[in-house]
Amino acid sequence: MTSHHPPETFLLDVATGALPEALRLIVAGHLAYCGECRAQVGHWERLGGDLLLSLEPVPMRTGALEACLARLDDEAEIANQDAISLERQGPVPPVLRPFIGADLSGISWNGVGGYFDEVKLPSITPGYRVSMLRVPPGKYVPEHGHEGNEYMLVLAGGYTSGGRHYETGDFSFCDAYEHHAPIADDGNDCICLLVLDAPLAFSDAEGQEIAPFLSM
Ligand SMILES: [Zn+2]
Repeated sequence: MTSHHPPETFLLDVATGALPEALRLIVAGHLAYCGECRAQVGHWERLGGDLLLSLEPVPMRTGALEACLARLDDEAEIANQDAISLERQGPVPPVLRPFIGADLSGISWNGVGGYFDEVKLPSITPGYRVSMLRVPPGKYVPEHGHEGNEYMLVLAGGYTSGGRHYETGDFSFCDAYEHHAPIADDGNDCICLLVLDAPLAFSDAEGQEIAPFLSM
């Protein structure tokens, strides 16, 4: 069961299609684990449908209905895949599989200064950096601040940051005011999806060592 969720405005923006694709990816990943947030998105989607029904009809261009129905089929398929229980599907949310495959053990990691491993995913939204992060048991990411926002989704293991504990399926959000040094739980690797909209801000020697690996 998840304990840490995306901001409610993100759930509303998923329902309306207003969220940038990089953020939609990480929120949709969380939805695969979290029935509570899926229900909230469903609520917003139904509300949007009711609002549409209350509008005055206007003439549509030729072919608009067919194009709309075809798009609905695509999006319904994605939503259904996300909603199916992960216990039945494996450890990777369906929305992430085009990027990393269906099995976390198949990821080709790059070492980052001996502290953790990372692999940058293809850029899907200009201005966002999307990557996978693997921190060995008991190890940490050197202390850092943020020039913008940092979003994380735990896919395996867990970590502690700022006195809060995050486990598989949990979503975390740090803004430019927060400094932290997340520490992975003992026992298993902690594997996360990481989305940044600005570089991390490292201040000490350890951080300076790894900063070049994490350039936008
Ligand atoms: Zn949730």
